[in-house]
Amino acid sequence: MGNFLPNDLVQRLNEREGFDSEAFAAVHEQGDKVTSIRLNPFKQKEVPFSGADAVPWCDLGYYLPGRPSFTLDPLYHAGCYYVQEASSMFIAHVLETVGLKDAGARALDLCAAPGGKSTLLNSYLGEGSLLVSNEVIKSRANILLDNLGRWGSANVVVTNNDPSSFKRLPGYFDLLVVDAPCSGSGMFRKDKQAIDEWSLANVKLCSDRQKRILAESLETLITDGYLVYSTCSYSEEENEDILDWLLSQYDFESIEIPIEAAWGIERTTSRIHGAVGYRFYPHQLRGEGFFIAVLRKRTDQPTFSRKRLRPEKATVPVKELENWIEEHTSFSYFMHADELYMFPKTYLDDLQWLKQVLYIKRAGTNIGKWTGREFLPSHELACSIHVHQHIAAQDVNLEVALQYLRKEALDPQDFQGRGWCLVRYKAVNIGWVKVLPNRINNYYPKEVRIMNL
Ligand code: SAM
Repeated sequence: MGNFLPNDLVQRLNEREGFDSEAFAAVHEQGDKVTSIRLNPFKQKEVPFSGADAVPWCDLGYYLPGRPSFTLDPLYHAGCYYVQEASSMFIAHVLETVGLKDAGARALDLCAAPGGKSTLLNSYLGEGSLLVSNEVIKSRANILLDNLGRWGSANVVVTNNDPSSFKRLPGYFDLLVVDAPCSGSGMFRKDKQAIDEWSLANVKLCSDRQKRILAESLETLITDGYLVYSTCSYSEEENEDILDWLLSQYDFESIEIPIEAAWGIERTTSRIHGAVGYRFYPHQLRGEGFFIAVLRKRTDQPTFSRKRLRPEKATVPVKELENWIEEHTSFSYFMHADELYMFPKTYLDDLQWLKQVLYIKRAGTNIGKWTGREFLPSHELACSIHVHQHIAAQDVNLEVALQYLRKEALDPQDFQGRGWCLVRYKAVNIGWVKVLPNRINNYYPKEVRIMNL
């Protein structure tokens, strides 16, 4: 049994005390799919599917009884939830344990695309926080932009930088999350191709890369700041051995995260320094393979001069925006390449410091365009949690919502009023239309429209 799994991997796992290789092989052979979602607390209070069960370590996470067609659910497109593998949601429990939940922290998600951990961090770090969500691979950074745009928060900066760029911001972040690129064995149940691609040589390559990523970015963490390191690999070379390497090279302290026995998570320690990590196996819990560890920086980390930099002159019709944005005075507005952005005023200085050293793909929310006479709202503004509640909106049923998301022609009889109007499905905004005397202009972005379904 289980000889479709790489022998070298199974052999190593068998060396671990108490490892049940039969159950491990069986769970891969059965190929059961576990589907879970995590709610966006700023948009969705209740699970929009029946028969869901709570994920024990994440109060916003739910297992679904089957896999619905998310593509055909307008709430999915509106960023009401994120489809995320349940083990990774453990970060919610970590944030709560170390006291970062709603603490207004500055956080860096260094390897962020497609955005699972970033959307989680944004939800749990709270409205007073600042998240820098970075992805080094350009094409993947665009997916990250889409997912965070849908999520709707303005306190997020998306960057496209190599980890080494963050050296230029020493002692800045309270939290550094490194969800490292890895050999991917934890995803074997979901991705059979990964089984054929797995090799010991690749594990070694990944382990070297993980050390490089960490070495190049650790300086950006403040003294006493937390490093959360995770992979979806079962290999010790990418997990416990990385913790040993970290503790031998840097002054970090390993942090224990209390877990309940019923959760089925395995507490593990590294061979040399006894650093604590947590292993997730699909035969022991409802989730995929995952490893996570938390460390606190003890080094007295020098930082950079927090000189106030003069913000760029605003050429933005701020007065015009008060009808479009809730509490519009808590945001600052700026123009970049003809597009208007909103960003929390409390982090304006931070944005100037970030801009000096990073390639920023998007800071805050892109709210639209100012033509000189008129404000043209963007799709991101429709998805924003800050869009004004008194803007004209039209509630539509599922059929009309899907016509809208397919960017099809809409029936004027389904819409009332005139001018810009939010299309709303189950009390959630899904985008803009412009209601004209004889027709409806559908402003859903064509790049993300539903096709062939
Ligand atoms: N955190 C993401 C989430 O929860 O949705 C998943 C991240 S995935 C495990 C690892 C990411 O690291 C990928 O997006 C990959 O493009 C990126 N990556 C690959 N090589 C990298 C490198 N040398 N430095 C930093 N990131 C890298």
